Amino acid sequence: MAPGCPVKALVIGAGIGGLTCAAALRRVGVDVEVYERATELRAAGSALAVMSNAATALATLGIDLGLDKRGQAIESYTVRDFRGRLIKDLPFKEVCDTVGAPSVCLSRPDLQEALLEETGDSPVRLGATATGFESDGAGVTVRFADGRCARGDLLVGADGFDSVVRRHLVGPEASRDSGYVCWLGMVPFRYPHLTPGSVRHYWGSGQRFGLIDIGHGRYYWWGTKSTTAGSPDWDGAKDTITKAYTGWADEVQAVIEATPQEAIRAVASRDRPFLQRWGEGPVTLVGDAAHPMLTTLAQAAAMAMEDAVVLAHTLAEPAARDDLALALRTYEERRRKRTRAMVTESRVLSDFEQATGPVWGLIRDTCFRLVPRHVLARRFARALTFPGSPDAGRRVKRRPSSLARLW
Ligand SMILES: Cc1cc2nc3c(=O)[nH]c(=O)nc-3n(C[C@H](O)[C@H](O)[C@H](O)COP(=O)(O)OP(=O)(O)OC[C@H]3O[C@@H](n4cnc5c(N)ncnc54)[C@H](O)[C@@H]3O)c2cc1C
Repeated sequence: MAPGCPVKALVIGAGIGGLTCAAALRRVGVDVEVYERATELRAAGSALAVMSNAATALATLGIDLGLDKRGQAIESYTVRDFRGRLIKDLPFKEVCDTVGAPSVCLSRPDLQEALLEETGDSPVRLGATATGFESDGAGVTVRFADGRCARGDLLVGADGFDSVVRRHLVGPEASRDSGYVCWLGMVPFRYPHLTPGSVRHYWGSGQRFGLIDIGHGRYYWWGTKSTTAGSPDWDGAKDTITKAYTGWADEVQAVIEATPQEAIRAVASRDRPFLQRWGEGPVTLVGDAAHPMLTTLAQAAAMAMEDAVVLAHTLAEPAARDDLALALRTYEERRRKRTRAMVTESRVLSDFEQATGPVWGLIRDTCFRLVPRHVLARRFARALTFPGSPDAGRRVKRRPSSLARLW
């Protein structure tokens, strides 16, 4: 890095983590180039919730994605049995109000559009599949499948669950399957008893369903069914899904009925054992590349956004320029505890919620009915509060670099 020149970051992947990195890093004066393997920027289908903590994190850099206008803020969150009878009315909205930022459900293309607006003139180079990288004392060079190379001061792997950057750092790893398939759909939908901003989860035996208002007359839904990978359920055929939810609450059957086959997808639900350190030299990871988690807490995208913000704040500290590698280790240290907790909690909750068989189902529903509201509120508050950079100002000490320390 030439004296006086801005730091140049290469970001691999233009998903939620990569685009948030571009938006966050440019705010602190880092030059960013994003490289994406897709040949066009089209966020794959469906929708998601962007939780309050992500909005709070972005606000620390003056970024407001205006999500409440693009989607629908969560106003109520209930858990029901498969017939639609109430198990628990969750104190979710109260917690959002307390932390002072809404949690918003919106379509992925709408979120992508909002993030792209914030990346400004940072280039997003498409059709660029990263295949590996080499780092030296002066920076890092990334290689792409078409023979191109890019050179920067640091490299951020935001390339998702099957991250090439992560594999290059730690070698091949096994993933952990959740034991169920996840079906997704998004459709214009109205139904008499559904109130604006409602999130409803329905629990059956080895099967669940989520029905979520994403605003502008549209609903997003997801269904899970315990099954082994590669079983016929994986085709995401509407007939299969209709059959699986026969006898469930009327609105569940109605929204499936209203969804055309082309608006339905089947996706794997998996995570990985938590990686203790996810960087080396001028290279680090954000989002699913760093800490893939199951979807139960709906916090994975928010964690990618928090990562990007904490990375930007860390690189903005005066000492960062003197030792970028140390700044990246500091960022990882600041994110480790929170992201590890999310990976673990998502997995524990997933096993609990997906309970199979009438006895386990009864135990699950009864236990959940009995959990006091203040206990749930405390849990939500922990997740929905952006902790900032824990120990901000404190930096990790330089240690000899060794891949062995990644585990
Ligand atoms: C069913 C489901 C529901 C979910 N619901 C929620 C929710 O409600 N709330 C929430 O917070 N999270 C949710 N998530 C999780 C969330 O979608 C992910 O955590 C988030 O998208 C991760 O973002 P990312 O940028 O890390 O990775 P990705 O979104 O996977 O982006 C990675 C990008 O990198 C690109 N790429 C990959 N390899 C390369 C390469 N070699 N070279 C160049 N580019 C490459 C990919 O094309 C992609 O664009 C859900 C996930 C699923 C599956």
